[in-house]
Amino acid sequence: MKIHKNFNINNSLGINSIAKFFIEIENIKDFEELFNFISSKDTSSTLLIIGEGTNLVLPETFDGIVVKPIFNHINYDKINNLISVGASVNWDYFVDLMVKDNIFGFENLSLIPGSVGAAPIQNIGAYGQSISSLISSIDCFDFKLNKFVNLSNQDCDFDYRHSILKDNNYIIYNVNFTSNNISECNYDYDSIKKYILEFNLDAKLLTLKDTRNIICKIRKRTLPNHLITPNVGSFFKNPIIQKKIINQEYFSLNNLIIWPLDSNLVKIGAARLIDLIKEELDEYDNVSISSTHSLVLVNPESKASQKEILSYASHIKDIVQKKFNISLEIEPTIIN
Ligand SMILES: Cc1cc2nc3c(=O)[nH]c(=O)nc-3n(C[C@H](O)[C@H](O)[C@H](O)COP(=O)(O)OP(=O)(O)OC[C@H]3O[C@@H](n4cnc5c(N)ncnc54)[C@H](O)[C@@H]3O)c2cc1C
Repeated sequence: MKIHKNFNINNSLGINSIAKFFIEIENIKDFEELFNFISSKDTSSTLLIIGEGTNLVLPETFDGIVVKPIFNHINYDKINNLISVGASVNWDYFVDLMVKDNIFGFENLSLIPGSVGAAPIQNIGAYGQSISSLISSIDCFDFKLNKFVNLSNQDCDFDYRHSILKDNNYIIYNVNFTSNNISECNYDYDSIKKYILEFNLDAKLLTLKDTRNIICKIRKRTLPNHLITPNVGSFFKNPIIQKKIINQEYFSLNNLIIWPLDSNLVKIGAARLIDLIKEELDEYDNVSISSTHSLVLVNPESKASQKEILSYASHIKDIVQKKFNISLEIEPTIIN
C-alpha cells in the first residue's frame, strides 16, 4: 500500500483538486492495512474510491482519503466462459481485447472512458448495450466491515445508470464477465442504423471488428475528447417520466426524443431538451455546453471550479424545468 499526502487527483473535467491522503492498493493483502489506516483516522474522514476520474466532479480540496485500487490482471477461463478483470484495467483496452478474441457483447461499449472497476457502478451503457448484461459477479472489499464480498449480477440490482454499488462501502477489485451470453452484434440503435445507411453498408457482412470501428467513429463525431477538451461525458441522465406531465406550452412533443418504456413511462432524450433551450442560457466564464453534444458540459481551459460547474448545471436544470416541467438529474458523481 502506498500513501501519498496532499496529492493531485487526476480527473477528466480538468478541476484542480488536491486530496489530503491518496492511497494506492496493489494487492489483496493491502486491504487489511487500508482498514487499519482508516480506523486510525478521524471517523468523519470520508473515503473516495477512484478509477480514472472520468465521471467525477471534484472539489478543489478533498479533506479525506482517496483510494485507488491497482489490479491489472485479465484472466480468461475458457471452460467456464468467465473473464476476470482487475479494477484498474482500462475499459476500452479490455473491449478491444474482447473484439480481437471474437467475444460478442462488448463492442457497442467501445471507447467509453474509464476503468473496468468503475464501469459497473453506474452500469455504463451506450448504443443499446449496458455492462450489466455482461457481468457474472463482482469481487469487492467492504471497507466498513473489513471483509471480502462476492456480489452476483442480481445482487447488484442494475438499472439505467444505477446499481447498488453507488453509495456503498465496497471497493471493487475484480469484475467477472461472462463470454457466452451474446452471439451477434446489435445494430438497433438509431445512430448505428443511420451510419449503416449513410455509408451504404450491408449489416449482414459486418464483422465484430467493423462494428467496433463504427461505434468509435460515431462517438468521435459527436463526443468531445476529454483528453483535449475536459469533460465527464453526459452531464445529465435521460429522464424517465410519465409522458402526460410534459409541458407543451413552448415546444410540442414532436420536438422531443421520446423512447416508450412501458404503458406508463417514457425515457426522454436530455440532449434534445438542452438543445432546445440553449439559446436562453446565460454565458459563464469557464464552463459551457459542447458544440457537438448538448449533454456534455466542457471546461475547455481547465479554469472552472466545482462551484461554477454546478452553478451552470443548476441553471440548465432550472430552464429545462420551467420549459418542459421535466427535472434533470446529474449523472457524474459529485464529491463534497
Ligand atoms: C468523453 C466521455 C464519454 C463518456 N461516455 C459514456 C457513455 O457512453 N456511457 C456511460 O455509461 N458513461 C460514459 N462516460 C462516463 C464514464 O466513462 C464512466 O462513468 C466510467 O465508468 C468512469 O470510469 P472511471 O474509472 O473514470 O471512474 P471514476 O470517475 O474514477 O469514478 C466514478 C465512480 O465510480 C466509483 N469507483 C471508481 N472505481 C471504483 C472501484 N474500483 N470500486 C468502487 N467504486 C469505484 C467512484 O467512487 C465514483 O463514484 C463518459 C465519460 C467521458 C469523459
